[in-house]
Amino acid sequence: SVGRGRPDRVVTTTCPFCGVGCNFDLHVKDDRVVRVASNPAAPVNGMSLCVKGRYGFDFVHHPDRLTRPRVRRYLLAGVEKRSATLAEREWVETDWDTALNLVAAKLVAVRRAAGPDAVGFIGSALCTNEENYLVQKLARQVIGTHNVENCARLCHAPTVAGLSMAFGSGAMSNSMDDVAEQAQAFLVIGENVTECHPVFGTRLRQAVLRRGVPLVVADPRTTDITEFAAVHLRHRPGTDVALLNGLMHVVLEHGWHDRRYIEERCEGFEEFRAAVERYTPEAVGVLTGVPAADLRRAAELLARNRPMAAVWGVGVTQHTTGVLNVLALANLQMLLGNMGVPGGGANALRGQNSVQGACDMGALFNLFPGYQPVTSPAALAKFDAAWALDPPAPRAGGTPSLGLSDRPGRTLTEIVDAFGPGDLRALFVMGENLALTNPDLNHTRGCLAAGEFLVLQEIFPTATAEFADVLLPGAAFAEKAGTFTNTERRVQLIRPAVPPPGEARPDWAVLADLARRTLAADGRAPVGPHAGWAYRDPAQIMDEVAAVAPLFAGISHARLERGDRLQWPVPSPDHPGTPILHVGGFARGKGKFHAVEHAPAAELPDAEFPFVLTTGRVLQHYGSEMTRRAEALTAACPEPVVEVSPDDAARLGLTDGSAVRLRSRRGAVVSRAAVTDRVAPGCVFGNFHFPAAGNVNNVTTGVLDPTSKTPEFKACAVAVEPVTTN
Ligand code: SF4
Repeated sequence: SVGRGRPDRVVTTTCPFCGVGCNFDLHVKDDRVVRVASNPAAPVNGMSLCVKGRYGFDFVHHPDRLTRPRVRRYLLAGVEKRSATLAEREWVETDWDTALNLVAAKLVAVRRAAGPDAVGFIGSALCTNEENYLVQKLARQVIGTHNVENCARLCHAPTVAGLSMAFGSGAMSNSMDDVAEQAQAFLVIGENVTECHPVFGTRLRQAVLRRGVPLVVADPRTTDITEFAAVHLRHRPGTDVALLNGLMHVVLEHGWHDRRYIEERCEGFEEFRAAVERYTPEAVGVLTGVPAADLRRAAELLARNRPMAAVWGVGVTQHTTGVLNVLALANLQMLLGNMGVPGGGANALRGQNSVQGACDMGALFNLFPGYQPVTSPAALAKFDAAWALDPPAPRAGGTPSLGLSDRPGRTLTEIVDAFGPGDLRALFVMGENLALTNPDLNHTRGCLAAGEFLVLQEIFPTATAEFADVLLPGAAFAEKAGTFTNTERRVQLIRPAVPPPGEARPDWAVLADLARRTLAADGRAPVGPHAGWAYRDPAQIMDEVAAVAPLFAGISHARLERGDRLQWPVPSPDHPGTPILHVGGFARGKGKFHAVEHAPAAELPDAEFPFVLTTGRVLQHYGSEMTRRAEALTAACPEPVVEVSPDDAARLGLTDGSAVRLRSRRGAVVSRAAVTDRVAPGCVFGNFHFPAAGNVNNVTTGVLDPTSKTPEFKACAVAVEPVTTN
């Protein structure tokens, strides 16, 4: 759908898909986006764009878009949900007043009857910073709960936790630019970088080809980037700690570590050294399946070519050992003196366009905006004053005005678990598709189906909409203003190019309207300096963020419009931003080594479920809804596939393209088999972009990393069977 002729206008904006954060120009004709074109001034990508950025915009004008609020007929008829007939469960389109008044009244009723923690909120990595700020303000100020989360809980929460423990800051430490231009070696681990972060993947490939940078890839699966690797460490899923400890064992054995750096800038080294002593290459080979010679070769390349940039994705984090894996990577980068220098760093590639921003803005159960802990008396006092309401909350404990607890709320997985079967009675979800992207979907769907009141703010009637009581139509990225924050902490503008369809409204405007109505229904009024909800535009919301969160104090839409390139921390309006963290010292003072030990995945193969399933994305799709509604992308990748090794396929009687069923203790998936040596024998790979029976999350496990509460998407036991048709 590439448009012809001169556009009516050209609007520069930021890509809505992955965390690279490419900028491009939307060409608009007759209020429709007709083309995406490169913009040479784009800070991250220059003229480069991947197939999603260039051809993925059809979804904006797709006929499936929600255009009016919808409520279930039983709500209008005053019928109990549980006793509603099928006819009473049908959607009824309605006006905004009816829908929002209904939601406001229900939120107040639940809050009064069962307390603020009976309500939960899910923000969105796809929405703007300003919208995520508002969703957590709605949760905390208007309702009085810290039950507010975003999908980072499903992906990089272990990175945030692990890097915070080691360095004092949970974000990607360096910039993509300096990694690509200045690193002398790369370790890419658990990250299919050419498909999941394609423009950055291209830059890494170019660095290998043009500058001769040695690349070590650690991945159970062969991906496109492994073609460029000097060494591919194909370890078994769930053995990252053993692998990394083995690499560090070799570094220490040869004395390749940076003694001075460790002495001056780090602590906990001796305990760490004792822990890796046992991880000889031979012992590691038994655990990981990686030949000792490959491990030694990789260690030498990484140690002798510094600075080395460690780059990782959710292949590292989506494990029950996710935090331990991240701590091991932090150990490696301190051991080699690679932190706080250009070309080095702990470069966790965040997945979605603004998952970094959703976390920055406080859509997390334990943190106010700007990573200020809800357990901190100073932070509580600050937000209590900033967001003060009159009259104060009728609830004992906590701070006097808002009644905010100093106990963290519930994580995303805990919120879903408590909805329906538990004591969480109302759930507000903005732009997340829990019914496709959560693990163990039969369990998730059961929780959503049993819940009392679910509000979904979305652009499409997604799989989650099936369980909603109210659907509120939001605006897509091309229809609203605001900012996204990419993986390297870069805050970038999005700009409205076309109007939202029908009566759909920008999500920030819906949230502000709902907050005003909820406060009115509750008989409370804003009195604090940042308590109000009468926002003129998202720029004003960002000004409020800057006022309450010191990390972003110098960020404003005006600066971004002027062309300032800002990576947080930006502590003041004249600060240029911070492309590299931990220069000269770590955010926590000294960098802390942690002694971490290998622990197996929670569910290992056995006689009944003899294969390990690992999951991920494909180049053409991102998430579960938008790219599936882009013609060029679905033409290139129309359906889910499960990768099976040639050996296993021959043994099971599978051929390329034949139907295959995966079964786990939790459910089943039916898909097409792709017979390929991208996966090792004993391992299969699937993706989660497609709905219903083909979604691999029907079989994944909901077992969690104990610290970060992130599910182990990347390893579970399955049976693999051909589907026979009679
Ligand atoms: Fe760039 Fe990622 Fe968008 Fe592709 S999907 S254009 S790499 S931001």
